[in-house]
Amino acid sequence: MKPACSERQELSNRVVKATKAYGKATKRLQSIKPSELKKACLKADVARVEYELAINWLTSHIEQHGCGDSESPIDHTIENTAR
Ligand SMILES: [Zn+2]
Repeated sequence: MKPACSERQELSNRVVKATKAYGKATKRLQSIKPSELKKACLKADVARVEYELAINWLTSHIEQHGCGDSESPIDHTIENTAR
């Protein structure tokens, strides 16, 4: 298998960032004032969409380019979070 190319690494980093942002946004919902709930829900929803996009970009890159090691930590992250 080819080594992970720089584009894949970039996409992997994006997934990690999006996952963290999504986690943060959903965590925030648990301790928020009722008056801020609507805005915070919207933010969490945007974070979720960004996370899903990042996963999809990375997945289709891997399918099309076939680069990288399938045992890399990011693939396990995808397996554990996307299903
Ligand atoms: Zn690649």
